[in-house]
Amino acid sequence: MNDHDTSKYERFSNFCSLLETLQKKTGRATKIFQKDIIQRYFNKWRLYGGSLFPVIRLLLPHIDKKRLNYRIKEKTLSKIYVNVLCLPPESPDGRTLINWRIPGKAKMKTVGDFASVLYGVLLKRSTFTGKSVLTISDINEKLDQLNQAESFDQQKDCMRSFYTSLTPLEQKWIVRIILKDLKIGLTENSILNIYHPDALNMFNVCSDLYEVVESLNDSSKRIEINGLSVFHPFQPMLCERIPINNCLKVLNTNTFYIENKLDGERIQLHMKNGEFQYWSRKATQYTKAYGSNKNNGTLTPFIYDVFNPSIYECILDGEMLVYDPNIDDFLPFGSLKTAILDQSDEKMKKRPCFVIFDVLYVNGKCLTNQPMINRIKLLPEIMKEKYGYVMFHKREEAKTTNDIIKALEKIIELHGEGLVIKDPNSTYELGTRSKRWIKIKPEYINSLCDELDVLIVGGYYGNGYRRGKISHFLCAVLKDKEDIEGENNNDNNNNKDTKDMPHFVSFCKFGTGYSLNELEGLSKEKNGNWKPLDPNNIPSWLSLEKKDMPDVYIRPDHSQIVQLKATEIVPSVAYSAGVTLRFPRFEKIREDKTYENCLTLKELIQLRNLSSGR
Ligand code: ATP
Repeated sequence: MNDHDTSKYERFSNFCSLLETLQKKTGRATKIFQKDIIQRYFNKWRLYGGSLFPVIRLLLPHIDKKRLNYRIKEKTLSKIYVNVLCLPPESPDGRTLINWRIPGKAKMKTVGDFASVLYGVLLKRSTFTGKSVLTISDINEKLDQLNQAESFDQQKDCMRSFYTSLTPLEQKWIVRIILKDLKIGLTENSILNIYHPDALNMFNVCSDLYEVVESLNDSSKRIEINGLSVFHPFQPMLCERIPINNCLKVLNTNTFYIENKLDGERIQLHMKNGEFQYWSRKATQYTKAYGSNKNNGTLTPFIYDVFNPSIYECILDGEMLVYDPNIDDFLPFGSLKTAILDQSDEKMKKRPCFVIFDVLYVNGKCLTNQPMINRIKLLPEIMKEKYGYVMFHKREEAKTTNDIIKALEKIIELHGEGLVIKDPNSTYELGTRSKRWIKIKPEYINSLCDELDVLIVGGYYGNGYRRGKISHFLCAVLKDKEDIEGENNNDNNNNKDTKDMPHFVSFCKFGTGYSLNELEGLSKEKNGNWKPLDPNNIPSWLSLEKKDMPDVYIRPDHSQIVQLKATEIVPSVAYSAGVTLRFPRFEKIREDKTYENCLTLKELIQLRNLSSGR
């Protein structure tokens, strides 16, 4: 390469042209084309002789740990640009930048994509003329400065320097790099594979982009990737989403494990000779928070001694949850920050609790190639559980689709996240969304039957952090008039008020899908209207089955119609309607409807016949 080519390839403008070409290509041949032009670009850099890290870190900003977090999102960037461009916030362009997300304010084609909205504004206003001369190295230097900026003013100065030295198009790409999303449709897997055939494997075991790029500069030289090592965060195995009915076919095993999908943060724990490190799924280190040894952090001082004395090093995979000893239950993970500030007595303090579902490395031995059944057997030999601090995740062995359906029904009742189905013979596939681990969430299940407007008639008190509050609601459908006429109204609980009340039959129970606010609306607001239910004195307007009676009931004229969605209507002896919903989910409160507009039993049966014919 001659001098002229060298400087050309170092130019940031050249890199932006590459990104523009990558972004513009559509159609079936896109991926091959994209890979081809990146390959050629890399080859040119290699010819030039320098390290490719300065370029690759711009192509993969989201995995570049050397520039962790700019602490800048679109909102700050819009404020900065309004400032740098001296725009009154109420001016059309000022509003376009500030309301980049709102259709009608920004152009339809670019709305929701801040970098493109900004580009539109800059094209009209940029004072920069000609071509930029900044090199990739200049850009990296400026990005480092931005990364270290501690105040809004410092961030503004950095962005101003981009504004005065780059074209509008180049600024669009800088903003995407800062936001760590280039939108060119290529994942790190593809780009690392183009760089070197061993790059992805190496990245999966060390999560360090710099180390990968520097070690593999010669693309013709293959290297053997050793397995995991302690204190090097790996890329964890992830779950594939598969419809319930296909699980067995995809797994193709006689038995499989069903685990609850825990709702916390994926964490890998590395331990060596009493030193601990905690890493997130994206290789962010949390050791400062949880503790590097027995003397510091919110978790390590309580778990440092649970390991078998013969275990001097190990790597464990699991989920960090928040445990509240006062209610003996896990809290939503969002409450971790406040939990840590909890001043209560140590024993009653809300705290992080690590729930382990895999073991990947023990005393110098990497276990990723061993079947899961063998890996998890080792866990009790490595350490003991400590309730509320470090626990082994429970799993059940299952064989049929029906087992999965039952487990899902149970998890919906318990307001759980979902399930993870695992193949006991599976090896641990680093950095892979694998079909050997299948996630099933209630919301993945397609609704087979229409939305149903039913009446809330009863409530069940919850436990854990829902204790003392109604956590599940019993719903009923309206019995059609002609069906009631002639029936012996054998109630002994008739009062004047409810004498003319139409009759309702219990139909289903729901306990998921609502946000906590809506739940409050459904229960608290109507608190005075909820009455304890005496199983021997059921209100005359309601038919209930003995099994699973609610704790409280509410009169139809005090209650609300709710819209539910479910997968199907199935026979049931637990409800007076003789049928119920499978996987019911709350959609919304129907403020516009009163109890007279409730779905009737006849309509329900018609719906059932219709949907079973589908
Ligand atoms: P989601 O948003 O549905 O959690 P995701 O894209 O974050 O999906 P997935 O691959 O779908 O990640 O699911 C894997 C995540 O599920 C893991 O990162 C982990 O945090 C979490 N998880 C919870 N329980 C389990 C479990 N029992 N086994 C494996 N992963 C689990």
